[in-house]
Amino acid sequence: MNTITPDTIHNSRGIERIVEGIATSDGAGVKLTRVLAGKFQKRLDPFLMLDAFSSDDPNDYIGGFPDHPHRGFETVTYMLNGNMRHRDSAGHEGLLKNGGIQWMTAGRGVIHSELPEQEDGVMEGFQLWLNLPAQRKMRDPWYRDFPAETIPEYVTPQGAEVRVIAGNSNGVAGAMSREDTEPLYFDIHLPDGTEFSSALPALNNAFIYVYRGEVKVDGVKVVSRQMGILGNEPGADGVTLKAAGDTRLILLAGKPLNEPIVQYGPFVMNTQHEIHQALNDYNNGQFA
Ligand code: MN
Repeated sequence: MNTITPDTIHNSRGIERIVEGIATSDGAGVKLTRVLAGKFQKRLDPFLMLDAFSSDDPNDYIGGFPDHPHRGFETVTYMLNGNMRHRDSAGHEGLLKNGGIQWMTAGRGVIHSELPEQEDGVMEGFQLWLNLPAQRKMRDPWYRDFPAETIPEYVTPQGAEVRVIAGNSNGVAGAMSREDTEPLYFDIHLPDGTEFSSALPALNNAFIYVYRGEVKVDGVKVVSRQMGILGNEPGADGVTLKAAGDTRLILLAGKPLNEPIVQYGPFVMNTQHEIHQALNDYNNGQFA
């Protein structure tokens, strides 16, 4: 792993709000924590949803997510532990494994399934929904798997380990980049006492989700299973994170689209009319 000295941040963003996820289930009874949902979609534009899942009880995940449609956005699944098989109506198939990423652009519509390929052991990871701008919501579907070994990583002199899933971190280009929303998606491992800074574009919305340990951001503690929404303070040039205990978290930022968001289950469009169109198209078999 390359050693890279991170950006110096002069004025860190603070924590605007701490959010506890809501325990729920989706698909065929998969237990998960919905960290980001409806009421934060405008604040965290272009991010529409973040689900965290973590269980060593197969009853919590074995049903998986049988065939279901999507239109109008992208799904990014990050598997920390476990095996999940993806198949979709555009003909894509892949096995998502430990440390791997799956990036799917639903565009005008796909029907896909996400089914566990394990009967026991731990299943842990995240699914993020990233919006598409109005002019690209009806683009062709797209899909790609990134196995763990293809995701760029670096370590800082203090020992922070950074996996660059999307965007650019301290000059390291991530596995993915996206026009329009310019997402940054980093998985960061901070040993006890380690500090790590990342530059963030001032107008982009950003948050962290801690999944082990705890961090302090500008004096405010964010602990495991909490999302910290980072403020968009004028003059802040990034964020500085300091770990207490062995800590793992994801850091996300993206450029807001500032367009209307109308969601109906797995469809996210700009108007009610487009939602009705999506339902009609799905019911008429136009996604298959
Ligand atoms: Mn899905």
